[in-house]
Amino acid sequence: MLTIHPRGYGRQFIILVFTTAWLMSPLIHAQTTIKSPTSGRRYQRLVVRNAMIVDGNGTPASGPKDIVIEGNTISEIVALDPVALKRGDAKRPAGDVEIDATGKYVLPGLINAHAHVQEKRGELPQPLEYELKLWLACGITTVRDVGASLNAAGDGIDVKRLLSLRQQSNAGEIASPRIFIYALFNSNPRPRNAAQARARVQEFKQLGADGIKLSGVDRDIMAAMEDEAHKVGLRIAHHVGVEETTAWDDIKFGTTSIEHWYGVPDAAIKDKVQNFPSSYNYNNETDRFRYAGRLWREADPEILLKVLDGMVAANVAWVPTMDIYEASRDLQRAQTQPWFAEYLHPTLQEYFRPNSANHGSYFIGWTSTDEAFWKENYRLWMSALREFERRGGVIGVGDDAGFIYQMYGFGLIREMELHQEAGFHPIKVIQHATGNNAKILGQEEKLGRVRADYLADMIVVNGKPLDNLKTLYPTGIDEIRDGKVVHTGGVEWTIKDGIPYHGPTLFADVKAMVAKARSERMSNPSQP
Ligand SMILES: [Zn+2]
Repeated sequence: MLTIHPRGYGRQFIILVFTTAWLMSPLIHAQTTIKSPTSGRRYQRLVVRNAMIVDGNGTPASGPKDIVIEGNTISEIVALDPVALKRGDAKRPAGDVEIDATGKYVLPGLINAHAHVQEKRGELPQPLEYELKLWLACGITTVRDVGASLNAAGDGIDVKRLLSLRQQSNAGEIASPRIFIYALFNSNPRPRNAAQARARVQEFKQLGADGIKLSGVDRDIMAAMEDEAHKVGLRIAHHVGVEETTAWDDIKFGTTSIEHWYGVPDAAIKDKVQNFPSSYNYNNETDRFRYAGRLWREADPEILLKVLDGMVAANVAWVPTMDIYEASRDLQRAQTQPWFAEYLHPTLQEYFRPNSANHGSYFIGWTSTDEAFWKENYRLWMSALREFERRGGVIGVGDDAGFIYQMYGFGLIREMELHQEAGFHPIKVIQHATGNNAKILGQEEKLGRVRADYLADMIVVNGKPLDNLKTLYPTGIDEIRDGKVVHTGGVEWTIKDGIPYHGPTLFADVKAMVAKARSERMSNPSQP
């Protein structure tokens, strides 16, 4: 069977089907009219045809297969028998609309386990649509927000606002990934004792949060908070800073995932104190990031293995967000990413400028010495991650974008590249971003796999991500074919909850949004 799909989508077009009947020799020319889906619309029966599938469980690619989506569920996956295909009598499921995935890879929808839904940066407005469409265009079908707070001030987003967005996303009313809300424990007013810690957990539970994001907390409050969270069934993401608690506390109290990495090497320092200079001030971000770059070398290798084993035994997962520290090891790379030219929103552009008033803008006066330390820091960190997984640990992927030169979605794909750099096989990298992240969310029975009866979250990738993870970037890649340069790549379709979104269309929307915002700011310079 040969299907010819013209460019474009959302239009009716003709597919010529050449069938060799298996009992009779003459070719039968059947003409069928098949609809390609319209972006943003859910169908009764959508079939993704001829797909090579990389599942989210770490197994090798397999295909070609036809994937049947009914409503928001994967109802059937049919492996196509190559002999029957050649003969022309392969059993193919019918669909109301079809996506031709010939020569393409289908992966579970990517999950962003460390996301920040943001409507403002540096108190300047930024349209939500910009971020949500970038995420979808980068193949992200689920985000775990770890930044919403009660009584949000400044750039923060309010839990209630995010709850209503989650509702709109679940109802398919907005083009958005699924949203899981891990609300900030240290929202205003900050819990000061065990009783207040328990009350805060109860409050989040009643509001309908999915979990709690913890950072900057003393041990006694952490103990009460985690105990209460386990009782009410809320999961816990812990950004362990350089502070009283370390990974040992996460192991003891049962944290779901350690975010970033501080707290892991800190738990392995023999003298139990970081060897910072006497002038060090944790609240000075340049100090904080500069000397963080010298922490992994302080970890005692033998104790570190015990910490990693402890995390494995206590089911503490690890979401390292390596992408968000990349400016520390290579500032110039971070500042000159090619997609900034047309896709960086002026609000984010302004926010990324070195400015000591904005979080993460610590790199004024950043030196080659800082970068050299950070490169070593990464090497040790990456080898700890490898060791953690070998010992049975669960590693997730998150972009932490909106800070330090990382754009929404692009940061997640960059994070996947860094997992590959750490030594993980691309199959494992994809598992980190799908099956493992689903496990961290406690959704492994519904999300993170291309499997019958799972929710229909998947992406159709225009190329071979196992060869080149850069294929996932919506800006695409160049390849040489028959001596000619061909521009290809990108996520062609992001299917979330059974709703297909056309990647290039979303990405064009983002481009237009950025162009409009730039021209508005040009004509009204009083609003930078
Ligand atoms: Zn974060």
